[in-house]
Amino acid sequence: MTLSRVEALRSAIRRLQTGSPERDYLVKELYNAEAGIRGEHRLKKKFIEFYFPEGFEMIWNNCLALGDWPVQIDGFLLTKSVAVIIESKNISGELHFDNDTGEFYRIDKDGVKKVMDNPAIQVEKHIRFMKSWFKLHHINLAVDGLLVFTAKECELKTLPQTIRTCKLHQMMEQIFLLLKEYNSPMYSQSSLVNIKNLILASQTPYVEKPITLQYSIKPEHLAKGIYCTQCEKFAVKRHFRTWGCNLCGAMDNEAAYKAVLEYFAFFSRHASNRQVRDFTGIDDRHTMKRLLTQAHIEASGRKWHSKDHLKQ
Ligand SMILES: [Zn+2]
Repeated sequence: MTLSRVEALRSAIRRLQTGSPERDYLVKELYNAEAGIRGEHRLKKKFIEFYFPEGFEMIWNNCLALGDWPVQIDGFLLTKSVAVIIESKNISGELHFDNDTGEFYRIDKDGVKKVMDNPAIQVEKHIRFMKSWFKLHHINLAVDGLLVFTAKECELKTLPQTIRTCKLHQMMEQIFLLLKEYNSPMYSQSSLVNIKNLILASQTPYVEKPITLQYSIKPEHLAKGIYCTQCEKFAVKRHFRTWGCNLCGAMDNEAAYKAVLEYFAFFSRHASNRQVRDFTGIDDRHTMKRLLTQAHIEASGRKWHSKDHLKQ
């Protein structure tokens, strides 16, 4: 079991001091992460309208790796002639691609300009990745890409020259225009299914960096203890075989386990028994051992990392 990025951000936010710059920054990151997820849902919903009798396969949230190079591709459309990377971006405001500098920026409703990572370059990278991945697996399929802006209130002022880009309501039309450029089928429908199955069998879970590393959060700024969802304080303790809040009395047998998952998401999965006890405030090392075993077995489906053995 691993916390999703959104869950990890929410957990970190409630452990940081209100009004601190670190907390404010994570609140923005949480907002962006949630917007991204909403955008992906809109993309998926729209894709229901894709009707292509020639045959196709679709893979959502395609996570692959080439050595240390991981990618996470929102939508991956396989047809007999071409594979299409479909990336969604949920950014509102006036959007500009500066094709001379490669810069991407948005101007919000207050006229404030913000330079952001250029999503067209990300699609280019993903195309390069999938071409290499196909070559490695002797798959002879062209790779192209489409960038889709899903925000209801966004205006594309200038488009990138390298990657086909559109708003959500234009997506179908753009996909068909793209597919028209590739009209020599390389594979049969059954081979396409084989390629899809190979991709699905090769999925590599995308490992997020720990929150403290990714956002340079000082570990000592995160409140310690086990969170009570009832009174929103860090006051859950062990009471014989159950877990309950010392302040409001609410019982929550999942609370300690969740705190262990939080530790992993904040710092590292490779933690010693003592480190996680220090963070959660659990004194008993046998209790912690059980919690760590539970968390690691659920994470990997096999024995926990040997480092946990050694340090206990
Ligand atoms: Zn409570």
